[in-house]
Amino acid sequence: MFPREANRIRTVLPALGLIFLSAAGGLAEVTPPEKFLGFRVGADYHLATYEQAVAYFRLLEKESPKIKVFEMGQTGTGRTMIYGVIASENTMKSLDRYREISQKLALAEGLTDAEAHKLAAEGKSVVWIDVGIHATECAPSQHALQLAYDLISSDDVETRFIIDNTILVLVFANPDGMQLVADWYHPNVGTPFETSPLPWLYNRYAGHDNNRDSYMNNLIETRNITNLLNRVWYPVVLYDHHQSAPFPARIWIPPAAEPTNPNLHPLFIRGKNLIGSAMGYAFDREGKDGAISRFAFDFIYPGYEDSFGDFFHIISIMTETALYSYATPHFYNLRDFPEDYRDLTPSVFYPSPWKGGWWRLRDAVDYCLTASKAVLHTAALYREAFLFGKYRMGRDTAARFAKEPPYAWIIPREQWDAPTAALLVERLLLQGVKVFKAEEPFTADGVSYPAGTWMIPMSQPFALFVKAVFEEQAYPDLTKYPDLWQGIVQPQMFQNAYLPPYDLAGWSLPYQMGVKAVRVDTPLQAVLAEIKQPELAAGLAPGSGSAWLISARSNNSFTAVNRILKKGGDVARSLESFSANAKTWPPGTFIVRPGSLSRDFLAGTAKELSLEISAGDPPAAAKTIKLRPPRIGLYKSWRASMDEGWTRWLLEQYEFPFVNIGNPEVKAGSLRSKFDVIIIPSMSADTIVNGYAAGTMPPNYVGGISDAGVMNIARFVREGGTVIALNSSCLFAVEKLGIPAVDALRSVRGSMGGMYGAAVARPAAPEFVCPGSILRLAFNATHPVAFGMPEKGAGVFYNSPAFQLFPGGGEGAKGGEVIASYPDDSLLISGYLKGEKYLRNKVAAAAFAMGRGKVVLLGFGVQNRAQPYGTFKLLFNAIFY
Ligand SMILES: [Zn+2]
Repeated sequence: MFPREANRIRTVLPALGLIFLSAAGGLAEVTPPEKFLGFRVGADYHLATYEQAVAYFRLLEKESPKIKVFEMGQTGTGRTMIYGVIASENTMKSLDRYREISQKLALAEGLTDAEAHKLAAEGKSVVWIDVGIHATECAPSQHALQLAYDLISSDDVETRFIIDNTILVLVFANPDGMQLVADWYHPNVGTPFETSPLPWLYNRYAGHDNNRDSYMNNLIETRNITNLLNRVWYPVVLYDHHQSAPFPARIWIPPAAEPTNPNLHPLFIRGKNLIGSAMGYAFDREGKDGAISRFAFDFIYPGYEDSFGDFFHIISIMTETALYSYATPHFYNLRDFPEDYRDLTPSVFYPSPWKGGWWRLRDAVDYCLTASKAVLHTAALYREAFLFGKYRMGRDTAARFAKEPPYAWIIPREQWDAPTAALLVERLLLQGVKVFKAEEPFTADGVSYPAGTWMIPMSQPFALFVKAVFEEQAYPDLTKYPDLWQGIVQPQMFQNAYLPPYDLAGWSLPYQMGVKAVRVDTPLQAVLAEIKQPELAAGLAPGSGSAWLISARSNNSFTAVNRILKKGGDVARSLESFSANAKTWPPGTFIVRPGSLSRDFLAGTAKELSLEISAGDPPAAAKTIKLRPPRIGLYKSWRASMDEGWTRWLLEQYEFPFVNIGNPEVKAGSLRSKFDVIIIPSMSADTIVNGYAAGTMPPNYVGGISDAGVMNIARFVREGGTVIALNSSCLFAVEKLGIPAVDALRSVRGSMGGMYGAAVARPAAPEFVCPGSILRLAFNATHPVAFGMPEKGAGVFYNSPAFQLFPGGGEGAKGGEVIASYPDDSLLISGYLKGEKYLRNKVAAAAFAMGRGKVVLLGFGVQNRAQPYGTFKLLFNAIFY
């Protein structure tokens, strides 16, 4: 048992400052975590749960004036997220003032250098440390309990120096995961399944992808974090803890691997390197071997939680502490090491090679403690320099784009899918980017724009973020710079080798989202007003007719249709173009017969979804199909799939009714009586069919759909169902359902990159390489699955196949209908592509008739991480197909 405190509400209201609802405690002794938990932090086989962490932080708050606990919002499952603020008693008295100083320096505007110097001299280094975002990486969240206690209770010179000069914002980044992992692990301790993987995602929707959402802010947890970072605390340093280090190193610390994001102020990179070096020094000063740098982890991708902050003047770093499994200890022999590491040669960025031995959770906790304290100590030491540097980065950025291009980005009001363009604007505002609206017509680069046009002038402090996510990425060819590869790696090993990024190579948001954004390269004059929210003309358009017409172009139209179907409304889809009210409506237009639906309901739906719904009289002869509320099954494996989670998130956002179906339901059969559509998220055929092998997991979580399940899915299609296969799972459909297509890349594709991709030297680059990138696509907009799509567009290629179709027949599937293909053109828009010729004229998405049903292959990342808003419609259309 551990003490619990009655729930009290503590909250942070950015506009009103901090509100403390608890009286600071007196002189009572501070309870050490081992006394509270009943075990030492990091003890073998013991994990503190999130509930325990919260209760412990609240106890500390009662016992010490040096810590305050705040709530920061809810998680995906409705848990309350908390964080602790730790500082000296004196600092605590003026917390609002220090926060104000951080904010003023971060926003950089309206200050002279002299004023900034004065503020920097007065301020404190706000240091953000977050723990547990990847919940199976257990040590960081455990270490938070010890770190809080050490800082509050110690009175040595170093701790006092930290406490006096910094304000620590200590954040539990994934409460759901911390609880879930402890609850999974504890019953398995001492069984054969002690180190078995978690069969669920540890973030409700994103799992491990939860730290790849930062530029998009789809997840509620990300939004809570962004709000706290960019509107409340404005830290100078962000430190995000991870596990695991590249084996056999014991911790990975900055400096990072190449390539470097080209849109960073050099002070960030210097700041990261400085902190990394201070960490390394601390490790070897304490005799903790095995800290490694400059290897494996690059930060070119700006969507990580620990790279996103850079663009907001926060020196953002991460570490990867060695991990065995949960709280289970492990002994490593030198012969477990890769051959190249057994000689233990020291090098500049790995000067104290780890020699093997026991590795316990407590060791990892101790490494995390050393690292956190080194970060805090550096931030204390460089307090004034970091604070002034924060101002300087903002000042420089705003000044730079006042005199060099791009001068602005324009988001025209005329868009293919206007509500999605508004969504992009909304997310930028959430992140702290300033967006304006033209009050009068203006001209930019010789093009005229009407009043009301959205504009992001680049002479603002956070402009580099806009540039980093708006422009096309040109992933550097690192084979050109072999000398950049130092540390323990010999440059010649990389000759002719391709060095993949750790994550995506291309992510440009306007292309992913199908939003038109225009870069302005000459200085311009316009009368602008800053906006707080993007507003669109929405509601029922004037005009009359017997039906309501909803365009197929907007993602939000599908939400409207789902709401109408849920109310029992009558919705049809035109299969050909028609004229009504002097306008041509393309195939795919939704035709709603008002019936019992009230005008107010339709008007309200349109307004809420930023849609314009028109009245009209479609000709009676127009070919249409009637829509029904689809019965959707979303396949969910015990091998937890992030793609399943993101798809689930997407279906919920756009209000598609669905249920998850697991292996037992698929194996049981009779699928057609329950479902119209089965969606298979991106995963391998082996994962789907075989799942976890017997003996690797508790029996309930073993196995996949098996051959019986494959037969049931084939039967489901023949009986009139639709199977939608997403990205990698298209290969499952090809192999197991007899789809007459072949993956044209199978013999030329190299490694996909990813985990430690850069650490693996390859003898020669494969003929085809495309780490996550944005490519040109041609859409067959007359096909029902591509209704509402432009003829030319972009798609996210991410571990994707590309098809060659064959004529089919007989018992199996019929030859496919092309939905999307790679044109005979230059294909790369953003990222990296080698071996373009293998993709040209290949099929990216196709539909196949099989019996009375259909199989739809969406063979690229149409909804990857729920980011490519421009291609969600392919999935939505396929559901209604
Ligand atoms: Zn991690």
